Amino acid sequence: MSLPNDLKASTIAAQAGGVIDMPSGGVVPPVQPSTTFVRDEDYALVNPDNIYSRDNSDIVRITENVLARLENAEEALLFPSGMAAIAALFRTLPNGATVVVQSGIYWGTTKWLRDFSARRQITLHEVDASDAPALEQACATHTPALVFIETPSNPWLKSVDIAHAAECAHKAGGLLAVDSTAATPVLQRPLGHGADIVMHSATKGINGHSDVLAGVLATAAPAAKVWTDIKADRHDAGAVIGPFEAWLLLRGMRTLPLRVERMSVNALKIASWLKAHPKVTDVFYPGLASHPGHKVAARQMQGGYGCLFSFLVQGGAPEALAVVGKLKLFHRATSLGGVESLVEHRHTIEPHTGIPESLIRVSVGIEDADDLIADLSQALG
Ligand SMILES: *Cc1c(COP(=O)(O)O)cnc(C)c1O
Repeated sequence: MSLPNDLKASTIAAQAGGVIDMPSGGVVPPVQPSTTFVRDEDYALVNPDNIYSRDNSDIVRITENVLARLENAEEALLFPSGMAAIAALFRTLPNGATVVVQSGIYWGTTKWLRDFSARRQITLHEVDASDAPALEQACATHTPALVFIETPSNPWLKSVDIAHAAECAHKAGGLLAVDSTAATPVLQRPLGHGADIVMHSATKGINGHSDVLAGVLATAAPAAKVWTDIKADRHDAGAVIGPFEAWLLLRGMRTLPLRVERMSVNALKIASWLKAHPKVTDVFYPGLASHPGHKVAARQMQGGYGCLFSFLVQGGAPEALAVVGKLKLFHRATSLGGVESLVEHRHTIEPHTGIPESLIRVSVGIEDADDLIADLSQALG
Protein backbone atom coordinates (compact mmCIF):
# COMPACT_ATOMS: atom_id res chain seq x y z
CA MET A 1 0.00 0.00 0.00
CA SER A 2 1.46 3.40 -0.87
CA LEU A 3 0.45 6.95 -1.70
CA PRO A 4 0.50 8.35 -5.27
CA ASN A 5 3.78 9.78 -6.56
CA ASP A 6 2.82 13.42 -7.05
CA LEU A 7 2.29 14.20 -3.36
CA LYS A 8 4.30 16.75 -1.41
CA ALA A 9 6.78 15.89 1.36
CA SER A 10 4.47 16.87 4.22
CA THR A 11 1.74 14.51 2.98
CA ILE A 12 4.13 11.60 2.43
CA ALA A 13 5.73 12.13 5.85
CA ALA A 14 2.50 12.62 7.83
CA GLN A 15 1.00 9.40 6.41
CA ALA A 16 4.28 7.45 6.49
CA GLY A 17 3.99 6.84 2.75
CA GLY A 18 0.43 5.50 3.08
CA VAL A 19 1.17 2.44 5.16
CA ILE A 20 -1.84 0.71 6.75
CA ASP A 21 -1.19 -2.39 8.83
CA MET A 22 -3.22 -5.39 7.64
CA PRO A 23 -5.16 -7.26 8.87
CA SER A 24 -5.39 -5.01 11.95
CA GLY A 25 -6.19 -1.89 9.92
CA GLY A 26 -3.88 0.16 12.15
CA VAL A 27 -2.72 3.52 10.78
CA VAL A 28 0.66 2.88 12.43
CA PRO A 29 2.88 -0.03 11.34
CA PRO A 30 3.84 -2.60 13.98
CA VAL A 31 7.33 -3.50 15.18
CA GLN A 32 8.26 -7.09 14.34
CA PRO A 33 11.24 -8.02 16.51
CA SER A 34 11.67 -11.58 15.17
CA THR A 35 15.15 -12.32 13.90
CA THR A 36 14.03 -15.34 11.87
CA PHE A 37 11.07 -16.21 9.63
CA VAL A 38 9.43 -19.59 8.96
CA ARG A 39 9.17 -21.81 5.90
CA ASP A 40 6.17 -24.00 5.01
CA GLU A 41 5.94 -27.82 4.61
CA ASP A 42 7.48 -27.57 1.12
CA TYR A 43 10.32 -25.47 2.52
CA ALA A 44 9.14 -22.30 0.76
CA LEU A 45 9.38 -19.06 2.72
CA VAL A 46 5.99 -18.05 4.10
CA ASN A 47 6.93 -14.44 3.21
CA PRO A 48 9.53 -14.42 0.40
CA ASP A 49 10.83 -11.01 1.58
CA ASN A 50 11.86 -12.30 4.99
CA ILE A 51 14.46 -14.94 5.84
CA TYR A 52 16.58 -13.49 8.64
CA SER A 53 16.54 -10.03 10.15
CA ARG A 54 20.11 -9.14 9.20
CA ASP A 55 18.70 -7.15 6.29
CA ASN A 56 15.09 -8.43 6.17
CA SER A 57 12.73 -6.21 8.14
CA ASP A 58 9.34 -4.84 7.13
CA ILE A 59 9.58 -1.74 9.33
CA VAL A 60 13.05 -0.93 7.97
CA ARG A 61 11.73 -1.25 4.39
CA ILE A 62 8.73 0.97 5.17
CA THR A 63 10.98 3.64 6.67
CA GLU A 64 13.42 3.42 3.75
CA ASN A 65 10.54 3.81 1.32
CA VAL A 66 9.42 7.05 2.98
CA LEU A 67 13.00 8.34 3.00
CA ALA A 68 13.46 7.49 -0.69
CA ARG A 69 10.27 9.35 -1.57
CA LEU A 70 11.24 12.42 0.45
CA GLU A 71 14.65 12.44 -1.23
CA ASN A 72 13.28 11.85 -4.76
CA ALA A 73 15.44 8.72 -4.83
CA GLU A 74 14.82 5.30 -6.33
CA GLU A 75 16.18 3.53 -3.28
CA ALA A 76 17.29 4.37 0.26
CA LEU A 77 19.19 2.19 2.73
CA LEU A 78 19.19 2.67 6.49
CA PHE A 79 22.25 2.13 8.67
CA PRO A 80 22.64 2.06 12.47
CA SER A 81 24.34 5.51 12.42
CA GLY A 82 25.43 8.22 10.01
CA MET A 83 29.05 7.08 10.36
CA ALA A 84 28.04 3.50 9.48
CA ALA A 85 26.46 4.88 6.27
CA ILE A 86 29.62 6.85 5.41
CA ALA A 87 31.80 3.81 6.16
CA ALA A 88 29.64 1.57 3.94
CA LEU A 89 30.09 4.04 1.07
CA PHE A 90 33.87 4.34 1.43
CA ARG A 91 34.33 0.58 1.89
CA THR A 92 33.22 0.17 -1.75
CA LEU A 93 36.53 1.77 -2.85
CA PRO A 94 39.38 -0.54 -3.83
CA ASN A 95 42.69 -0.27 -1.98
CA GLY A 96 44.83 2.43 -3.54
CA ALA A 97 41.91 4.56 -4.76
CA THR A 98 42.00 8.36 -4.79
CA VAL A 99 39.28 10.49 -3.18
CA VAL A 100 38.61 14.21 -2.89
CA VAL A 101 36.85 15.18 0.34
CA GLN A 102 35.71 18.59 1.47
CA SER A 103 37.87 20.10 4.22
CA GLY A 104 36.41 21.57 7.42
CA ILE A 105 33.38 19.26 7.57
CA TYR A 106 31.88 17.17 10.39
CA TRP A 107 34.94 16.21 12.42
CA GLY A 108 33.90 12.57 12.88
CA THR A 109 33.89 12.10 9.09
CA THR A 110 37.30 13.70 8.62
CA LYS A 111 38.89 11.74 11.45
CA TRP A 112 37.52 8.36 10.35
CA LEU A 113 38.40 9.04 6.69
CA ARG A 114 42.01 9.92 7.54
CA ASP A 115 42.45 6.67 9.51
CA PHE A 116 40.61 4.54 6.95
CA SER A 117 42.53 6.01 4.00
CA ALA A 118 45.87 5.38 5.71
CA ARG A 119 44.94 1.74 6.41
CA ARG A 120 43.70 1.12 2.87
CA GLN A 121 46.42 3.02 0.94
CA ILE A 122 43.73 5.45 -0.25
CA THR A 123 45.01 8.87 -1.32
CA LEU A 124 42.86 11.46 0.44
CA HIS A 125 42.83 15.05 -0.83
CA GLU A 126 41.05 17.49 1.49
CA VAL A 127 39.86 20.55 -0.43
CA ASP A 128 37.69 23.56 0.42
CA ALA A 129 34.90 22.50 -1.94
CA SER A 130 32.99 25.78 -1.42
CA ASP A 131 35.81 27.29 -3.54
CA ALA A 132 34.50 26.13 -6.95
CA PRO A 133 37.76 26.64 -8.94
CA ALA A 134 39.73 24.80 -6.20
CA LEU A 135 37.37 21.83 -6.38
CA GLU A 136 37.49 21.84 -10.19
CA GLN A 137 41.28 21.82 -10.14
CA ALA A 138 41.46 19.07 -7.50
CA CYS A 139 39.18 16.84 -9.59
CA ALA A 140 41.08 17.52 -12.82
CA THR A 141 44.49 16.93 -11.18
CA HIS A 142 43.71 13.88 -9.02
CA THR A 143 40.87 12.18 -11.02
CA PRO A 144 39.22 10.87 -7.84
CA ALA A 145 36.98 7.79 -7.84
CA LEU A 146 34.78 9.56 -5.28
CA VAL A 147 34.16 13.18 -4.35
CA PHE A 148 32.53 13.69 -0.95
CA ILE A 149 31.03 17.04 0.05
CA GLU A 150 28.94 18.27 2.98
CA THR A 151 26.56 21.17 2.34
CA PRO A 152 25.68 23.18 4.33
CA SER A 153 28.84 22.23 6.22
CA ASN A 154 29.30 21.83 9.94
CA PRO A 155 30.28 24.09 11.78
CA TRP A 156 31.20 26.69 9.10
CA LEU A 157 27.90 26.48 7.19
CA LYS A 158 29.73 26.71 3.88
CA SER A 159 27.68 26.06 0.73
CA VAL A 160 28.98 23.85 -2.05
CA ASP A 161 27.39 24.11 -5.49
CA ILE A 162 26.17 20.51 -5.87
CA ALA A 163 25.56 20.68 -9.65
CA HIS A 164 29.07 22.04 -10.22
CA ALA A 165 30.64 19.45 -7.90
CA ALA A 166 28.78 16.68 -9.78
CA GLU A 167 30.11 18.02 -13.08
CA CYS A 168 33.70 18.09 -11.72
CA ALA A 169 33.44 14.55 -10.30
CA HIS A 170 31.87 13.11 -13.45
CA LYS A 171 34.36 14.80 -15.78
CA ALA A 172 37.12 13.10 -13.77
CA GLY A 173 35.34 9.73 -14.10
CA GLY A 174 34.28 9.68 -10.43
CA LEU A 175 31.10 9.80 -8.39
CA LEU A 176 29.71 12.55 -6.17
CA ALA A 177 28.35 11.83 -2.69
CA VAL A 178 26.72 14.58 -0.63
CA ASP A 179 26.28 14.67 3.15
CA SER A 180 23.02 16.62 3.28
CA THR A 181 22.40 16.18 7.02
CA ALA A 182 22.10 19.87 7.91
CA ALA A 183 19.49 20.42 5.16
CA THR A 184 17.37 17.27 5.57
CA PRO A 185 15.48 15.97 2.47
CA VAL A 186 12.89 18.72 3.04
CA LEU A 187 15.23 21.62 2.17
CA GLN A 188 17.67 20.07 -0.32
CA ARG A 189 17.57 17.10 -2.72
CA PRO A 190 21.10 16.62 -4.08
CA LEU A 191 20.17 13.78 -6.50
CA GLY A 192 18.20 16.32 -8.55
CA HIS A 193 21.39 18.38 -8.91
CA GLY A 194 23.43 15.46 -10.25
CA ALA A 195 24.76 13.81 -7.07
CA ASP A 196 25.12 10.02 -7.31
CA ILE A 197 24.57 9.34 -3.62
CA VAL A 198 23.06 11.41 -0.84
CA MET A 199 23.86 10.67 2.79
CA HIS A 200 22.27 11.81 6.06
CA SER A 201 22.89 11.30 9.70
CA ALA A 202 19.22 10.55 10.42
CA THR A 203 20.18 10.96 14.09
CA LYS A 204 19.81 14.70 13.46
CA GLY A 205 16.89 16.51 11.83
CA ILE A 206 15.29 13.48 10.15
CA ASN A 207 14.52 11.81 13.48
CA GLY A 208 14.46 15.17 15.22
CA HIS A 209 13.87 14.02 18.79
CA SER A 210 17.45 13.26 19.94
CA ASP A 211 16.53 9.67 20.77
CA VAL A 212 17.58 7.52 17.78
CA LEU A 213 20.96 6.92 16.14
CA ALA A 214 20.56 6.23 12.39
CA GLY A 215 22.10 6.90 8.99
CA VAL A 216 20.83 6.75 5.43
CA LEU A 217 22.20 6.54 1.90
CA ALA A 218 19.97 7.12 -1.13
CA THR A 219 20.42 6.97 -4.90
CA ALA A 220 18.57 7.60 -8.15
CA ALA A 221 20.55 4.81 -9.86
CA PRO A 222 20.06 1.56 -7.92
CA ALA A 223 21.62 -0.56 -10.71
CA ALA A 224 24.98 1.24 -10.43
CA LYS A 225 27.88 -0.88 -9.15
CA VAL A 226 28.54 1.39 -6.18
CA TRP A 227 24.96 0.86 -5.00
CA THR A 228 24.88 -2.92 -5.46
CA ASP A 229 28.23 -3.05 -3.61
CA ILE A 230 26.82 -0.97 -0.73
CA LYS A 231 23.77 -3.24 -0.54
CA ALA A 232 25.91 -6.38 -0.52
CA ASP A 233 28.16 -4.86 2.14
CA ARG A 234 25.22 -4.04 4.39
CA HIS A 235 23.72 -7.50 3.97
CA ASP A 236 26.99 -9.39 4.43
CA ALA A 237 28.84 -7.19 6.94
CA GLY A 238 25.64 -6.53 8.87
CA ALA A 239 25.59 -2.78 9.62
CA VAL A 240 21.79 -2.86 9.94
CA ILE A 241 19.41 -0.75 12.01
CA GLY A 242 17.20 -2.53 14.54
CA PRO A 243 13.40 -2.66 14.14
CA PHE A 244 12.71 -0.56 17.24
CA GLU A 245 15.01 2.23 16.01
CA ALA A 246 13.44 2.13 12.53
CA TRP A 247 9.98 2.36 14.12
CA LEU A 248 10.96 5.38 16.23
CA LEU A 249 12.58 7.01 13.22
CA LEU A 250 9.42 6.62 11.12
CA ARG A 251 7.38 8.07 13.97
CA GLY A 252 9.72 11.06 14.21
CA MET A 253 9.67 11.60 10.45
CA ARG A 254 5.89 12.12 10.36
CA THR A 255 6.46 15.70 11.56
CA LEU A 256 9.76 16.29 9.71
CA PRO A 257 8.53 18.93 7.21
CA LEU A 258 6.66 20.79 9.97
CA ARG A 259 9.67 20.77 12.30
CA VAL A 260 12.12 21.84 9.60
CA GLU A 261 9.87 24.70 8.54
CA ARG A 262 9.62 26.02 12.12
CA MET A 263 13.33 25.54 12.82
CA SER A 264 14.29 27.40 9.65
CA VAL A 265 12.05 30.36 10.52
CA ASN A 266 13.43 30.41 14.07
CA ALA A 267 17.06 30.09 12.93
CA LEU A 268 16.78 32.95 10.43
CA LYS A 269 15.14 35.20 13.01
CA ILE A 270 17.76 34.44 15.68
CA ALA A 271 20.73 34.62 13.27
CA SER A 272 19.50 38.03 12.02
CA TRP A 273 19.12 39.25 15.61
CA LEU A 274 22.63 38.07 16.50
CA LYS A 275 24.08 39.70 13.38
CA ALA A 276 22.96 43.11 14.74
CA HIS A 277 24.21 42.48 18.31
CA PRO A 278 27.22 44.62 19.35
CA LYS A 279 28.97 41.71 21.12
CA VAL A 280 28.72 39.41 18.08
CA THR A 281 31.48 39.78 15.47
CA ASP A 282 30.13 37.37 12.82
CA VAL A 283 27.27 34.97 12.09
CA PHE A 284 27.57 32.02 9.69
CA TYR A 285 24.12 31.08 8.33
CA PRO A 286 23.35 30.43 4.64
CA GLY A 287 19.98 32.16 5.08
CA LEU A 288 21.66 35.53 5.68
CA ALA A 289 22.20 37.58 2.50
CA SER A 290 25.63 38.56 3.90
CA HIS A 291 26.80 34.91 4.01
CA PRO A 292 29.30 34.03 1.24
CA GLY A 293 27.35 30.83 0.48
CA HIS A 294 23.93 32.50 0.36
CA LYS A 295 23.54 32.60 -3.45
CA VAL A 296 24.52 28.95 -3.90
CA ALA A 297 22.29 27.88 -1.00
CA ALA A 298 19.35 29.89 -2.38
CA ARG A 299 19.75 28.11 -5.74
CA GLN A 300 19.82 24.57 -4.41
CA MET A 301 17.73 24.74 -1.22
CA GLN A 302 14.00 25.34 -0.97
CA GLY A 303 11.74 26.29 1.91
CA GLY A 304 14.44 27.56 4.27
CA TYR A 305 18.05 27.14 5.34
CA GLY A 306 17.82 24.77 8.27
CA CYS A 307 18.39 24.79 12.02
CA LEU A 308 22.17 25.12 12.17
CA PHE A 309 24.31 28.26 12.45
CA SER A 310 27.49 29.43 14.16
CA PHE A 311 28.44 32.84 15.54
CA LEU A 312 31.56 34.51 16.89
CA VAL A 313 31.53 36.55 20.08
CA GLN A 314 33.93 39.39 20.91
CA GLY A 315 36.96 37.95 22.67
CA GLY A 316 38.15 34.34 22.80
CA ALA A 317 37.39 31.06 24.52
CA PRO A 318 36.71 32.54 28.01
CA GLU A 319 34.15 34.99 26.60
CA ALA A 320 32.45 32.34 24.42
CA LEU A 321 32.34 29.85 27.31
CA ALA A 322 30.91 32.56 29.61
CA VAL A 323 28.05 33.19 27.16
CA VAL A 324 27.39 29.46 26.76
CA GLY A 325 27.50 29.00 30.55
CA LYS A 326 24.82 31.63 31.16
CA LEU A 327 22.24 30.15 28.76
CA LYS A 328 19.16 28.78 30.48
CA LEU A 329 17.00 27.48 27.61
CA PHE A 330 19.67 26.25 25.16
CA HIS A 331 21.15 22.96 26.35
CA ARG A 332 24.94 22.73 26.31
CA ALA A 333 25.23 19.53 24.24
CA THR A 334 26.57 18.28 20.94
CA SER A 335 24.39 17.20 17.97
CA LEU A 336 21.76 19.10 16.00
CA GLY A 337 18.32 18.90 14.44
CA GLY A 338 16.33 18.04 17.58
CA VAL A 339 13.18 19.86 18.71
CA GLU A 340 15.16 21.35 21.63
CA SER A 341 17.78 24.06 21.00
CA LEU A 342 21.43 23.18 21.64
CA VAL A 343 24.70 25.13 21.80
CA GLU A 344 28.22 23.88 21.50
CA HIS A 345 31.66 25.39 21.95
CA ARG A 346 33.28 23.50 19.08
CA HIS A 347 36.84 24.55 19.93
CA THR A 348 36.62 22.61 23.21
CA ILE A 349 35.56 19.49 21.26
CA GLU A 350 38.11 19.74 18.42
CA PRO A 351 40.89 22.07 19.64
CA HIS A 352 43.44 21.50 16.86
CA THR A 353 41.34 21.85 13.71
CA GLY A 354 41.23 25.62 13.23
CA ILE A 355 37.82 26.26 14.80
CA PRO A 356 37.89 29.82 16.28
CA GLU A 357 37.94 29.92 20.08
CA SER A 358 35.12 32.48 20.00
CA LEU A 359 32.80 30.29 17.89
CA ILE A 360 29.49 29.10 19.31
CA ARG A 361 27.50 26.62 17.22
CA VAL A 362 23.75 26.65 17.59
CA SER A 363 21.10 24.11 16.64
CA VAL A 364 17.75 25.87 16.81
CA GLY A 365 14.73 23.87 17.92
CA ILE A 366 11.02 24.46 17.61
CA GLU A 367 10.63 26.58 20.76
CA ASP A 368 9.32 30.15 20.58
CA ALA A 369 11.98 32.25 18.82
CA ASP A 370 11.45 35.24 21.14
CA ASP A 371 12.07 33.07 24.20
CA LEU A 372 15.33 31.87 22.62
CA ILE A 373 16.36 35.45 21.71
CA ALA A 374 15.65 36.61 25.28
CA ASP A 375 17.89 33.80 26.57
CA LEU A 376 20.73 34.76 24.20
CA SER A 377 20.24 38.42 25.10
CA GLN A 378 20.71 37.85 28.84
CA ALA A 379 23.68 35.53 28.18
CA LEU A 380 25.44 38.07 25.93
CA GLY A 381 24.81 40.77 28.57
C1 LIG B 1 26.27 13.68 13.09
C2 LIG B 1 26.79 13.78 11.73
C3 LIG B 1 27.38 12.68 11.08
C4 LIG B 1 27.56 11.33 11.78
O1 LIG B 1 26.32 10.76 12.07
P1 LIG B 1 26.05 9.77 13.34
O2 LIG B 1 24.62 9.45 13.20
O3 LIG B 1 26.41 10.55 14.58
O4 LIG B 1 26.95 8.60 13.15
C5 LIG B 1 27.82 12.84 9.79
N1 LIG B 1 27.70 14.02 9.15
C6 LIG B 1 27.14 15.11 9.74
C7 LIG B 1 27.04 16.39 8.97
C8 LIG B 1 26.67 15.02 11.04
O5 LIG B 1 26.14 16.11 11.63
